Amino acid sequence: MTAPVVELVNVTRSFPGPPEVQALKSVNLRVERGDYLSIVGPSGSGKSTMLNLLGLLDRPSVGEYHLDGRDTSLLDEKQRAIVRGGTIGFVFQAFHLLPHRTVLDNVLLATLYSGVPRAEREDRARAALDRVKLNHRLDFLPGTLSGGERQRVAVARAVVASPELLLADEPTGNLDEATGGEVMDLFEELHADGLTLIVITHDQVVSDRAERRVRITDGRLSELS
Ligand code: ADP
Ligand code: MG
Repeated sequence: MTAPVVELVNVTRSFPGPPEVQALKSVNLRVERGDYLSIVGPSGSGKSTMLNLLGLLDRPSVGEYHLDGRDTSLLDEKQRAIVRGGTIGFVFQAFHLLPHRTVLDNVLLATLYSGVPRAEREDRARAALDRVKLNHRLDFLPGTLSGGERQRVAVARAVVASPELLLADEPTGNLDEATGGEVMDLFEELHADGLTLIVITHDQVVSDRAERRVRITDGRLSELS
């Protein structure tokens, strides 16, 4: 039996006050390989705190986070950065592409420290951009693309290193409904190919696209389906 990709055990994250805020309260969550999970909740419910923990950008105050079978509390900051780079792909609401680099470079740079030779990295970047149907935009700058195209570049960048887990934070937040729907179609394809996805959103429509849905309310999780 393989370990779950994500296992949170009684995770609490508190921010010291006064007043002290418990942004996550004794959260338990298991995400198996190949799962497609959404976490939906209103503003202030703990979504960003959750994303930061899952992405190894922050640590629990109490409890354990096992990522891909590893107890993350045993990792120092340097090891966390290495595990993050090799294990997790991120997609953000605001795309976060480098404006003065081409589409191809933006995706290539994600594998810069992978130890993979340049020619192989370039093949992988082209393949990732092919997957998001942007092979006709390789030499374009991000500013010349539509919002939907930019987010597809960000998805290509997130998957080019073959992560164990894709973490998306409000991935459709800057897109109109139709374009957002295209990004969600893309997630469905990646899921069908076996990728493990967690999408964090306040948008019920986006959340409903996932295979398994969890609600976050005031720092607590409850299963929806
Ligand atoms: P969401 O992303 O769902 O809007 P957050 O995770 O950002 O929610 O915040 C959850 C709660 O934790 C809120 O009450 C927020 O004010 C609080 N919080 C988040 N980050 C910090 C911080 N760095 N210091 C203090 N309080 C914080
Ligand atoms: Mg937030």
